[in-house]
Amino acid sequence: MTAFEQIKNDEQQYMMHTYGRFHAALVSGKGATAKDVDGKEYIDFTSGIGVNSLGFCDDGWVKAVSTQAATIQHISNLYYSPLQTELSKKLCELTGFDKVFLCNSGAEANECAIKTARKYSYDKYGEGRQKIVTLLNSFHGRTVTTLAATGQKVFHNFFFPFTEGFEYAQANDIDDLVRKTNDDSVCAVFVELVQGEGGVMPLTKEFVNAIDAICKEKDLLFMVDEVQTGVSRTGAFYCYQNYGIQPDIITSAKGLGGGVPIGACLCTEKLADVLSAGTHGTTFGGNPISCAAANEVVARVAAPEFLAEVNNKGDYFRSKIAKMGNVKKITGMGMMIGIETEKDNAKEIAAKCVENGLLILTAKNMLRLLPPLTISYEEIDKGLAILKNTMEA
Ligand SMILES: *Cc1c(COP(=O)(O)O)cnc(C)c1O
Repeated sequence: MTAFEQIKNDEQQYMMHTYGRFHAALVSGKGATAKDVDGKEYIDFTSGIGVNSLGFCDDGWVKAVSTQAATIQHISNLYYSPLQTELSKKLCELTGFDKVFLCNSGAEANECAIKTARKYSYDKYGEGRQKIVTLLNSFHGRTVTTLAATGQKVFHNFFFPFTEGFEYAQANDIDDLVRKTNDDSVCAVFVELVQGEGGVMPLTKEFVNAIDAICKEKDLLFMVDEVQTGVSRTGAFYCYQNYGIQPDIITSAKGLGGGVPIGACLCTEKLADVLSAGTHGTTFGGNPISCAAANEVVARVAAPEFLAEVNNKGDYFRSKIAKMGNVKKITGMGMMIGIETEKDNAKEIAAKCVENGLLILTAKNMLRLLPPLTISYEEIDKGLAILKNTMEA
């Protein structure tokens, strides 16, 4: 039995069968290049699903994490942490937000947003104003509540009863949005600006402006799930900054820690005291190692020159992909890229790419690219050559 076969067998025997995995066991990496257990190399267009913003084992990131691990690894939220305040201050200064809650994942950041919306409304209007409008084809997480927030029927199975109080509007359909928010029990609208898992589908400026106007008119909270789009992925530090709006809440996770678990929920001053002491909390949230990692990531990726480079690389990807065979449509923003194939064979291509030495994602019927933001042009060219051969085979 090869080393890979042994790992695969043990996974089957000892782990819950929650994942359909690609045929590779990755054990090390540097930059945008990973190595599997047999020493084979792969170019990485995935960042571990938008997580490794600085690539594998970036020198500055490794130093921040390992130094923190050797200094103090966890203190709980019973005590003050300068790493938490440093991160929160930076996040506020780089955005239009005023307060931060730190947690561990995207789903948890979204739970925080949902709780904030409901309590804001309860405090101000009393009971009965608890409904949150999300979008069809969205993805907001795997907890029972964030599954309910997710506007896809396939996720509303088995785990009944789901959390009540979500209504789904058609993305980019202002009439449907108006219909769904024309209801006294609505307290918030919660959207991804580029639907990630739903197929790398950006919202139009008109639609986003309509959400903004309706929310202002009806005192609904405008909440944006930036778990995938955030931390410079779309060429702005947070994607909402590309739209020229200021939501009431955004949620962040994935790329924020550059490879360690961390999430954040950011809100404006009017929501500062909604989640008062005792109404929300977390054991691990704002863990020192995660904060040290996030501080390093944020210090690097929010710089204007870095953001310009993300946009340049995104354009470079797009112009090269546009010239490949089997490409029907390219979607997305910055370094969040979707490819619709002529042959409707994204899943097959993704599996073949792994065989050929390229890690790539899918989202619905699309190929999805979330390369590390620091990927070099040499690595981009290597990966795109593999993609082209696989697409045109
Ligand atoms: C990945 C993702 C989530 C869930 O994040 P987890 O860290 O897996 O809980 C939520 N929303 C969006 C938009 C995501 O892409």
